[in-house]
Amino acid sequence: MYRSHHCGQLRTSNINEEVTLSGWVQKSRDKGFVIWIDLRDRYGITQLIFDAERTPEAMVTLAKSLGREFVIQVTGTVIERTSKNPNLETGDIEILVSKLTVLNTAKVPPFTIEDQTDGGEELRMKYRYLDIRRNPVKNNLIFRHKVTQEVRSYLSSQEFIEVETPYLIKSTPEGARDFVVPSRMNEGEFYALPQSPQTFKQLLMVGGMDKYFQIVKCFRDEDLRADRQPEFTQIDCEMAFVDQEDILTIFEGLTRHLIKSIHGKEITSFPRMTYDDALRTYGNDKPDIRFGMKFGELNAVAQHKDFGVFNSAELVVGIAVPGGNSFTRKEIDGIITWLKRPQIDALGMIYSRCNEDGTYKSSVDKFYDQDDLGKWAEVTGAQSGDLVCVLSGPTDKVRTQLSALRMELAERLGLRDPKEFAPLWVTDFPLLEWDEDSKRYHAMHHPFTAPKPDQIKLLDTDPGAVKANAYDLVLNGNEIGGGSIRIHDKATQALMFDHLGFTPEEAKEQFGFLMNAFEYGAPPHGGLAFGLDRLVAILGGQETIRDFIAFPKNNSGRDVMIDAPSAIDETQLNELHLKVDLK
Ligand code: ASP
Repeated sequence: MYRSHHCGQLRTSNINEEVTLSGWVQKSRDKGFVIWIDLRDRYGITQLIFDAERTPEAMVTLAKSLGREFVIQVTGTVIERTSKNPNLETGDIEILVSKLTVLNTAKVPPFTIEDQTDGGEELRMKYRYLDIRRNPVKNNLIFRHKVTQEVRSYLSSQEFIEVETPYLIKSTPEGARDFVVPSRMNEGEFYALPQSPQTFKQLLMVGGMDKYFQIVKCFRDEDLRADRQPEFTQIDCEMAFVDQEDILTIFEGLTRHLIKSIHGKEITSFPRMTYDDALRTYGNDKPDIRFGMKFGELNAVAQHKDFGVFNSAELVVGIAVPGGNSFTRKEIDGIITWLKRPQIDALGMIYSRCNEDGTYKSSVDKFYDQDDLGKWAEVTGAQSGDLVCVLSGPTDKVRTQLSALRMELAERLGLRDPKEFAPLWVTDFPLLEWDEDSKRYHAMHHPFTAPKPDQIKLLDTDPGAVKANAYDLVLNGNEIGGGSIRIHDKATQALMFDHLGFTPEEAKEQFGFLMNAFEYGAPPHGGLAFGLDRLVAILGGQETIRDFIAFPKNNSGRDVMIDAPSAIDETQLNELHLKVDLK
């Protein structure tokens, strides 16, 4: 028996018991006649004491030889501590050791195994197994487990069934590149790793499974953006005989359940907003609604004067920054510099101060009088003490810029409280999206999303205007889930492929299996998928998904611990029929 208790367990009620513990040496303090060792395992830390009077001499000598992270087993008696440590759950007791066994030695770790470590990111990734010993990482993994347990329990209670789908498949278009796997047995042929189980879950609906979910790895070969992982986890779901309302209700329920079971908080409001409204009001399709600063469109009240910049702009739009009138001139200049950085690329910013006495002072007083500025305040909802910030230019660009400014200022003003949860459905996404590079329409969600039935006829005349029963779940300004009602008949699916620029042959070659299945009684169906990594990070009050993944890849898609990807030898290449010019 390696242990009778774990290192977070013993209390004063255990005093005088003989116990056995196993774990890692966190640290030791050698005072000559007495040695204290902090013994650590997953559950906590327990203090061990060896002293010259009460501990066998050989054990004392052995204790003196222990280094950090040695793996040891001890047997001893639980005694009351003379100086207690209120910061430790086991802080009232210690173990007077009678027997010490070294189970394994350890090299000095390359960084300290402490909550605040001295190890840099890259080093910690290389020795991730040591990083996992640290509380912050360990606790995140335990937290993730708790979230997935709650997901499984909720969905199971709603009669969802977890079904595994294959990883070696044919391409599923979710808008990224596929990772491909060469087939040894079929020369010149390749599998693709799933970008999502999309087609399989639809086939499960044709198979009558009715309610499916899966906590599943997905693989997307994208140019890495900050905090993206080439492999990530989805909570993937699909339901048959449902309309959009049924789906939103179920997954609103899941979201409420998670926030309640993890944080004990009731979500009081779960609003919905159309995609068009989200863009108009917040400048993007995943608004953070924990705070206001809604957009006010100012064209009507700002384009009648001699200010050429505004007159020539497609959109003039502003936000009221709460308390922003207290910003100094220097602070406002700082904001303008921030806006002009290449990442945001704004030409400048016009502002109007809303003074406490009800007057206004703007950066364009030459063109606008108090009445005009009063209207700006009215449209943006500014109160006295606020600062109205105004940008102008081409609609899409300006919305993106002002949205970035809104988030930045909210961050600076401390309005993004990680302990507050504000979920939101964004609905009625466009079906198609114009791609300038390829000069054609792409599916905004994926090609299996159904157009709104009454808008199918628009596909021929104004494809960009067609809306879909497609929705995203947004939490605190992050898209954490998205899905749609699907096409479930062959003719509409063929029409869709046609509009996406597939020839009938190409459509058949790639998705014939799905279209065939639609001919055998496919029920109406729809679903969605949550990004588990991000969901867990946000529920954990953090933004970085990597901190919630046991073995993540770095920003260049590498696993620096196992050194992957890496070259393979020539025999293997030959077996796979891959001819590579090895230099
Ligand atoms: N397969 C979709 C995705 O990965 C989710 C869905 O439509 O259910 O985004």
